[in-house]
Amino acid sequence: MKSVEAPAVHLVLRAHPPVPARIGVVYQPLPGRALKTALSLAVFWGIMPWVVWLPPHYPWPLLSFCAGAWLAHRAWTGKYVVAWFAGECPRCARPLRVRAGARIDLPHILTCFACHFEPRLEAYDLAEEEAIAADASGIRHVLSDCTGSWHEERHWDQDYLACDACGVRHHATPALRAAAQDENERGRLLDELAGQGRFLT
Ligand SMILES: [Zn+2]
Ligand SMILES: [Zn+2]
Repeated sequence: MKSVEAPAVHLVLRAHPPVPARIGVVYQPLPGRALKTALSLAVFWGIMPWVVWLPPHYPWPLLSFCAGAWLAHRAWTGKYVVAWFAGECPRCARPLRVRAGARIDLPHILTCFACHFEPRLEAYDLAEEEAIAADASGIRHVLSDCTGSWHEERHWDQDYLACDACGVRHHATPALRAAAQDENERGRLLDELAGQGRFLT
């Protein structure tokens, strides 16, 4: 009955270009989550005054308090149930895992067991990515005076624009493609002028 959605997601890690990822999730609607949260608290916290009569007395109220809190937290924060996931660490390119059936929220922090860094899995929106990638000169490098030129790369069927000098990578939207072409063209002209200058002096 519940359908699996595949939101557009990528993996990001500070100082590394984003890498594509694929995820299938089943969205858990808010009323259902609220009900499960309330039930977990009502049942486990509600039995606390009663279970204290069972020997050996002390552990039971504490256990039901913790179980209630844990279940409530899980029900409340688990906006999605994972059906499947595939992704690679942005730093070391080893495969990352998210267990099928795990309850997660997006963005979701993963741990890479190969390099021990913690990439973040997040949904993205091309318009927002475009805003992040744009700067005064058109398209953003790591440093504003980078003179590298742009080329297109394809990862997992997704198009990116990458700089061959600083390694920055952006989603290849039509506007960013145009900006990158402009910049490459400007760079080529400057090179030509510099070449002629050298020739003249
Ligand atoms: Zn890694
Ligand atoms: Zn660059």
